[in-house]
Amino acid sequence: MNDTIAAVATASGVGSVAIVRMSGDAALDIARKITRKERFKPRYAHLMDLYEPQGELIDEAIVIWFQAPRSFTTEEVVEFQCHGGSVVARKILETLLHYGARLAEPGEFTKRAFLGGRIDLSEAEAIAKLIEAQSDEAAKILARQMKGELKEFVEGMRERLLRAVAYAEVTIDYAEEDLPPDLVEEIVEQLEEMAGLAGRIVASSRRRKGMIEGFKIAIVGKPNVGKSSLLNAMLGQERAIVSDIAGTTRDTIEERLRVGSHLVRIVDTAGIREAKETIEAIGIERAMAAVEESDVVLALFDLSRPFDEEDEKILALLERYRDEKAILVLLNKTDLPGRFDTRRLKEWEPLELEARNKGAQVLEALEKVLDDLSEGSEPLLVSLRQIEAVERAKEAIEAAREPLLSGELEIFTFHLQEAIAAISSISRPVDYNEIMDKMFGEFCLGK
Ligand code: GDP
Repeated sequence: MNDTIAAVATASGVGSVAIVRMSGDAALDIARKITRKERFKPRYAHLMDLYEPQGELIDEAIVIWFQAPRSFTTEEVVEFQCHGGSVVARKILETLLHYGARLAEPGEFTKRAFLGGRIDLSEAEAIAKLIEAQSDEAAKILARQMKGELKEFVEGMRERLLRAVAYAEVTIDYAEEDLPPDLVEEIVEQLEEMAGLAGRIVASSRRRKGMIEGFKIAIVGKPNVGKSSLLNAMLGQERAIVSDIAGTTRDTIEERLRVGSHLVRIVDTAGIREAKETIEAIGIERAMAAVEESDVVLALFDLSRPFDEEDEKILALLERYRDEKAILVLLNKTDLPGRFDTRRLKEWEPLELEARNKGAQVLEALEKVLDDLSEGSEPLLVSLRQIEAVERAKEAIEAAREPLLSGELEIFTFHLQEAIAAISSISRPVDYNEIMDKMFGEFCLGK
């Protein structure tokens, strides 16, 4: 017997329609009570009056009954599409609770869909992330994953690993002699290919993580180079500033803006908005922390002043991160007489600009960088949990190689079993209680 849960599924605030969802064994009975109607057709939009327990009319709403198991949760589900605003949906919810439903926990509908076998964990995660997705491209990828794209990748990989294990086990059990050398070679090749694929997927998922949470941008450069001018120009150019919210620590400010179809977050760990200090005082460490955290680095240099020690430090910083981060080098103050040795930046192909009023130029270049970062047709691992699972699988696959070559087939099988467990955990972990509580807890209510 499953208890019956209910929640308002739509966001709070004023809107024309709100949806209240209910799922569980008693859903249809409770629907009969609130509508005072007996007969329902499954998957049929009924226009019905809804009443409070005392008989007061709440609203006229569209009521849909999804008969188990043909519903999202695989349980009895009833949805009420009522008028929006804060009052009606709340009254409906209160009435459902009065008749015996209980308030759903965040993500509980999706959790039940998972428990009912309707979706796997990768599909559930895709649903959670789709709601949060910050770019059009991410939404597209997640919509596909919600329909099982990541599950297919997991199952394909699992299949191949199982086949390799099967070869080894057959040999252990039935053959006197070792595996034929060409078979060993073929398995080694397969393993290398799988490890390579796993590595590529992890790398491209890390590179593309900003598609879901927003790409983090660091603006670095010595004092007075024009960092805040650039930031202001970029924000000024971009009318659709999403918000200006205080960061997690008191002294960081986060600006969010849309660049093309991407969401960008500029976290001011570099102290752009602070009183001018020398770079020593602000600390190259601070700039480094900003770079470390970021997906894209905008590095500014000042054409009107000679290349100096501080620029040297910034350049060293860029050098250090050149393989890990997307870096855009900007040579600012091109309206002033040049005193900067531009040869120092030649290999970085700097974009020359006037930061004070040429925000558009930078945004355009930035959009190209973000388009490139978002590129990729590989499955996107959308959480640290998924990334770690594929990394574990990769390591186990790599560890299986030596024992295979030296004929230690038990050890080979052991590592491959490890890889299988790791990769399978993306869609169906063996011990999923803890993961589930954490993951579904991050969902919004009513999902
Ligand atoms: P920050 O310390 O790196 O944040 O630098 P600011 O943005 O505060 O800029 C320092 C000074 O340089 C300010 O007086 C700006 O007006 C000026 N500035 C910024 N960009 C340009 C530019 O493209 N040309 C000129 N001539 N001055 C600029």
